[in-house]
Amino acid sequence: MTSQVELIGMTRDELRLFVSELGERQFRGNQLFSWIHEHAVVDLDEMTNLPKEFRSQLRLSAEMDIPEIVDMVPSSDTSSRKFLFKLRDGLKIETVFIPEGKRKTVCLSSQVGCSLGCKFCATAKMGLLRNLTAGEIVGQLLAVRRETGERITNIVFMGMGEPMLNYQNVLKAAYIIHDDDGMNISTRKITISTVGIARKIRQFTKEKHPFKLALSLNATDETQRASLMPITKKYSIKDCLEALKEYTDRSRKRVTLEYVLMSGTNDSPADARRLASFMKKLNCKLNVIPYNPIVGEPFKRPTVHQLEKFISNVTGGRSMVTVRWSQGKDINAACGQLYVENVEKTVRNQTVVSA
Ligand code: SF4
Repeated sequence: MTSQVELIGMTRDELRLFVSELGERQFRGNQLFSWIHEHAVVDLDEMTNLPKEFRSQLRLSAEMDIPEIVDMVPSSDTSSRKFLFKLRDGLKIETVFIPEGKRKTVCLSSQVGCSLGCKFCATAKMGLLRNLTAGEIVGQLLAVRRETGERITNIVFMGMGEPMLNYQNVLKAAYIIHDDDGMNISTRKITISTVGIARKIRQFTKEKHPFKLALSLNATDETQRASLMPITKKYSIKDCLEALKEYTDRSRKRVTLEYVLMSGTNDSPADARRLASFMKKLNCKLNVIPYNPIVGEPFKRPTVHQLEKFISNVTGGRSMVTVRWSQGKDINAACGQLYVENVEKTVRNQTVVSA
């Protein structure tokens, strides 16, 4: 049996090396990279500036596999779309496309399922099935581009899984997406969201990666957060704050705080006061995401009045706050919260696959 090299997860330098090992000149690697990532072309027949013999050689030794679309759920109240993709091994992941005027954002998954067990998250119910490869991460984006025909401007790693627990593959994918011979998406438009894996945030800072960071915070009291997000027992809020301060101090970049607002859970005046105090300690901006209920879970979506009151209590009208209220309340794209009927369907499917 021959094993074929997967080209989509290769950086430009890796492709140059790969083609030179096949006896071709290295610039063919650049051409290949450009076809795949600049033009979203994954069919060798369409890569017309590559010699025919070289394409035949590639057919024997390499492949370009993008995830198969098995379902696409349009939002009923915006033009956002959620894609359900099938990977080569049959496992399924989700990716969300969010167009807002000129900004076209794709929310990427980094793992199949997740091990972190956040109580408000449907993905948590799957457990972790496996990490995605860099090629599977980039492949989600290529599939969305090919389907929508849109030029993507912003990337957020906020789909299924914890990106910092698939650190190398997520970073490799981010660098491929950023490459100016490919999709050429600015590092300022690529955001990696984490629940606060402090040791990885420190590594990210130390290694000086240029991408932006977001913290999925959701609670500001240690006990309360640990009850919602068990990872807090390992990495406390205080630990996350210190790691993020190192990041903002060294990188001079601002962190985005994501706060999923749940009525009666984390929206009291005391929650707002603690959040305001947290924000004073960090160079950050705040995204408040009204919770989307999951069947069988006790958490509730806030009313518009509750949301406005909470934000006013946090900011006093001063700080920078964005409400991700209208991005398709039925296909919410926040970290691991792709939890609507289709997710429940996915969970059932994955359970069958992994049984
Ligand atoms: S919210 Fe994010 S980190 Fe938490 S369980 Fe869901 S996918 Fe994992």
